[in-house]
Amino acid sequence: MDSSHSHRSKTLVSNCPLCQVVVTGAQNPEFICELQNVVVTRGPFAQRWPGAVQVTCKRHLRDPGQLKYPHFIHSQAELYALENAIRTTTRAHHMNVVKFGNVVEHLHWHLIPRFEGETHPQKNPWELADLPAEALFHTSPKQPLDLLYAEITDSVKSLLKQAQPPYFATAFFIRPRAKQDQPDFLNKTLVEQHRAICAAPTEFECFLMQRNYLDFAWDTFGGEIDAGETPRVALHRELKEELGWSVDQELEVTRQWVNGMIRGFVYLVEPKDGRLLQDVPDRIPCDEVKQAAWIPLQDLLANTGNTYALPLCGRARALVAGLTDFSL
Ligand SMILES: [Zn+2]
Repeated sequence: MDSSHSHRSKTLVSNCPLCQVVVTGAQNPEFICELQNVVVTRGPFAQRWPGAVQVTCKRHLRDPGQLKYPHFIHSQAELYALENAIRTTTRAHHMNVVKFGNVVEHLHWHLIPRFEGETHPQKNPWELADLPAEALFHTSPKQPLDLLYAEITDSVKSLLKQAQPPYFATAFFIRPRAKQDQPDFLNKTLVEQHRAICAAPTEFECFLMQRNYLDFAWDTFGGEIDAGETPRVALHRELKEELGWSVDQELEVTRQWVNGMIRGFVYLVEPKDGRLLQDVPDRIPCDEVKQAAWIPLQDLLANTGNTYALPLCGRARALVAGLTDFSL
């Protein structure tokens, strides 16, 4: 359903200052924490209103309406949790929550705690920009900023354990590393393939992609399940969008759990057209995919030097162990 245009708009933009905030992450001196959909930094109001934050969407979008609905709901849950965390941690009288987008066309919000004892309680923070910080308060809130933001981070993460992020569906494409074994293996049923992989995982390799956004991590092909889709329908749609491949069969091999809730469905998939015999399988260009390659399964299982992200390695380990569920 996603057009190539909306895919393009999600990719980070090199000359956008807020894309820079996303890419820089924890290297940024203003960095507070990273949630699933947003990066939280101190932003322009933190020096005057302790506890204020800037919340930047991890994708270069102008409007929340450009997010797929489950992402929209989850990003709103993150904002709500942050607002609560700041209000309770700072003992604010109330919170200002604003989205401007007048200067930078990259979705972001400012959350600003407002305190008892302010000299101009009825004015907006941006109307008070010219007032020196000491003139803002009759009695100014005093707490070291580092401690305050660490407390806010703990609080928001604990609140978000109760928020259900969108589900995903994702695919392992696997073949033997030895050329001569590939045709026979690919003729087997998926159940037989899975059994063979569990028996000798080091003899296999999987076709993975490197994301062209966010953390540029290697991952399995697949994506978030849209509202109204089953995992299987989402899997087929995503593989069509990212690879241009039609697949007619898939075998669910494991389910990924986070914080006691299911996050994703992991499948073993084979397009029955001989594509997996190719060392550089034909695929359509996709803006979300930087590159794709065959990678030994053993590299994911060992993960020497932490080259690969935890969820990807977890999926590989669950797959070869034959675990129907695994937890991160
Ligand atoms: Zn941007």
